[in-house]
Amino acid sequence: MEQITGQCLYSTVQVTVPPMSHDFEACHRVLCRAVISGGPFFGMAARVFDGQFTGDADIAIYRSSESAKRGFCGICGAVLWHKITAPGPMHGQVQVAAGLFPDPGDAKPGVDLYIGKKPVGYSLAGERGQMTEAEVIAAFALSESGGSEWGNFSIVSWP
Ligand SMILES: [Zn+2]
Repeated sequence: MEQITGQCLYSTVQVTVPPMSHDFEACHRVLCRAVISGGPFFGMAARVFDGQFTGDADIAIYRSSESAKRGFCGICGAVLWHKITAPGPMHGQVQVAAGLFPDPGDAKPGVDLYIGKKPVGYSLAGERGQMTEAEVIAAFALSESGGSEWGNFSIVSWP
């Protein structure tokens, strides 16, 4: 399968994923805005399930909440990914930072997460789905139905 490659500021960390033929998520959660300096976190959800990172030695990982870990480049500080560690249907799902890819193709924000946390100072253009904090929590961590509006994904060998 054809792949595309993204990288951090100095290419210390690189990630290779299948072409982005899908939209990504815009998360307005306070934690996500904090790591991106105020804007939403644009994450490509686990549809990149057979993606791969290089430069593991320089990837710094920390637990950013009870439900997730985050990875960033230990050299340049670029945000790399958010991984759900909470049990449930989304366990193991990774959102790769869309900003790593110089050319995101046709991908655009497909859903606003934590819409109630979005500051009034910015808005994204276009129409898309929206999920409240309660809806995100239910979809990511608490649902026992095994599904969500994003469907089921499997991730192998992510950090
Ligand atoms: Zn870097």
